[in-house]
Amino acid sequence: MSQKLILNIGWLYPNLMSTYGDRGNVICLQRRSQWRNILVNIIPLDQKVDASCFSKIDIVVGGGAQDRQQEIVMRDLKGAKAEMLKFKLDKGTPGVFTCASPQLLGHYYESASGQRINGLGLLDIVTKHSGSNISRCVGNMVFQITASPLAEEIKQMSGENPFVIGFENHGGRTYLGNVQSLGKIILGYGNNGEDGCEGVFYRHAIATYSHGPLLAKNSFITDWLIKTALKEKYQEDITLINIDDNLEKQARKTILKKLKLFSSI
Ligand code: GLN
Repeated sequence: MSQKLILNIGWLYPNLMSTYGDRGNVICLQRRSQWRNILVNIIPLDQKVDASCFSKIDIVVGGGAQDRQQEIVMRDLKGAKAEMLKFKLDKGTPGVFTCASPQLLGHYYESASGQRINGLGLLDIVTKHSGSNISRCVGNMVFQITASPLAEEIKQMSGENPFVIGFENHGGRTYLGNVQSLGKIILGYGNNGEDGCEGVFYRHAIATYSHGPLLAKNSFITDWLIKTALKEKYQEDITLINIDDNLEKQARKTILKKLKLFSSI
C-alpha cells in the first residue's frame, strides 16, 4: 500500500485505569507500529471527550484499576460514549483490555464492598470480588491462547504456539456465560481460580487478567492487534515487516525457566 498508514490508539481513562502499569501496552503498540513506519496517534478516551472521539479509534486499550476508580469510570462511560464503544467492538475494532477494563465490559462488577457497578454488557460475563478478607489472585501467570480464530491467526503470523506470560493482581472472580475464554491456564488463577480458564475473546477484543504489561512480554499479540487494526481500517491484509525480538525471546525463556515451565511449553 503506497499511502501513509495511520493508527489511532484509544486509551480508556488513562488517569484512572493505569494502576498496574498497563500503559506499557499503549507504548508497545505505538513503538511496534512506528518501527514499521506507521504513524500513531494516542487519544485519551476519558471524561474530557465525547462519543465522536471514540468513533475515530482503530485500536482500544483499557488498563487495570482499583474498585473506586472503576466506579468513577462507569459514572462517565455511559450513553453515547458507551454505545459508540460497544458499536466499535461489535464491528470488529481490535482492543486489549486488562483486568478492571474487561470487568466493566461485562454485565457487572461487584466490588469488595459489595457495591454492584453495572458494566456495558458487551461481554457475557459477571465479576464478583470475594471480599477483602479473601486473598487476592496475585502472581505470575502463564496460559495458552485457545480462542478461535485468534490462536490460529497468531500461530500463522508468529509460527509459534501462543503461550502468554504475565502477572495477575485481582480480587474479582469472573464467570463466563455465552462467550469464549481467551485461553487455558497453565500457571496462576486466571478468571476465577476454579475453571482453568483465562480471559475472554470477543470479535477482535482480547480481555485478560494478565498485566506485565502484557504486550511487552508477548509481542505476537501486539503484532496481531496492529495487523488486525490495519485490515479493519484499510480493508487490506498488510504484511508487517519483521522486528528483531531476540531480547524478548531470551527474557521469555528466562521467565519460563524461573517458573520451571521452560521444558513443558
Ligand atoms: N479492582 C479490580 C479487582 O480487584 C480490578 C483490579 C485490576 O485491575 N488489577 O479485581
